[in-house]
Amino acid sequence: MRLAGRMDRLGTESAFGVLAKAKALEASGRDVIHLEIGEPDFETPEHIIEAGCQALREGHTHYTPAAGVPELREAIAEEVSRSRGVPVGAEQVVVTPGGKPVMFFAILALVERGDEVVLPDPSFPIYASMVRFAGGVPVPVPLRQENDFRLDGEEFRAAVGERTRLVILNSPANPTGGVLAREDLAAVAETLREFPEAVVLSDEIYSKLVFSGDFASITAEEGFSPSERTIILDGFSKTYAMTGWRIGYGVMPVELAGHVERLQVNSNSCTNAATQQAALAALGGPQDAVGEMREEFRARRDLLTEGLNSLPGFECALPKGAFYAFPRITGTGYTADDLADRLLSEAGVACLSGTGFGEYGEGHLRFSCANSREALGEAVERIGAFLDRAG
Ligand code: PLP
Repeated sequence: MRLAGRMDRLGTESAFGVLAKAKALEASGRDVIHLEIGEPDFETPEHIIEAGCQALREGHTHYTPAAGVPELREAIAEEVSRSRGVPVGAEQVVVTPGGKPVMFFAILALVERGDEVVLPDPSFPIYASMVRFAGGVPVPVPLRQENDFRLDGEEFRAAVGERTRLVILNSPANPTGGVLAREDLAAVAETLREFPEAVVLSDEIYSKLVFSGDFASITAEEGFSPSERTIILDGFSKTYAMTGWRIGYGVMPVELAGHVERLQVNSNSCTNAATQQAALAALGGPQDAVGEMREEFRARRDLLTEGLNSLPGFECALPKGAFYAFPRITGTGYTADDLADRLLSEAGVACLSGTGFGEYGEGHLRFSCANSREALGEAVERIGAFLDRAG
């Protein structure tokens, strides 16, 4: 079948490919520890599940308004106003099936052929994929372990120019676990003040998973509120262990929200009606589970980082947020792709090569903490044994 040329420009997320490979190995009788996939292994808290079931029984089985039900948009506006300290109105909120569509819609709405989009490298592979698909040109700014995976002010300044249409930020970050401090964001804002046409897409999907200090958003910088030129992407997948429910949201200037709503009408129509009711219960109900999951992720992070650092050739910085460890493995003598492949096929540990996240991901592997402490410990042992065997 002849495909449209644009399909050549569409990338993918390596996590799904590695998961499929790992599942195939398991089907052939092998035991695999899954540290490749980026989703909490916890169950969605019970009161949220109950709200979703009740919503179905009560007839929330129809289309909803494309941008989301008004009560949920209102609740999200309140939560974002409170957590970011900036006033946000419900009319700025678009509810989407997961956080991902916010990325896609923002890029489709803003990026023209040849426009430049500045993004961190390594970062979530879907950013560059969607930018290229839309005809834009990704301009990477390297994130380095020796700089705590923070954006370097000078390198960021060098990447931005008259053709920059969009700047993507992600903190806490996938895959590095890096967190941007208030001063990093102030420096980004300072640079962008010279480029009033550049819009910021701030991917804050891990905002509730910061392990030390407070979460900082660029929306607190003067001129960068979601009423001006920042789109916040956040959602329920990571915070409430709701990846399969598919619900997220974007908060943006009202005019853009109208266009994003139009993109939604043209694609998903709306987000699942019962899921929206479950999300309302998530925001309005007890938040204990959010803190409990964060503390479990912190314990796993500590355990995994220590374990990885005990392996020959591995150097792992302590992740400051999200739930990934991103050790440098250059000391093992393997490339990241080779080591990830061999760990899966020879040690039964599924993880991701850093190269799936950008050119500066070479020399790193990504391990997700979304597995039990026992599994993390066992994974480290298996990797150690593999490295011993391989000499
Ligand atoms: N942004 C980042 C940085 C992510 O890592 C992910 C998921 O892995 C998403 C967005 C998408 O989240 P969702 O499942 O809500 O679409």
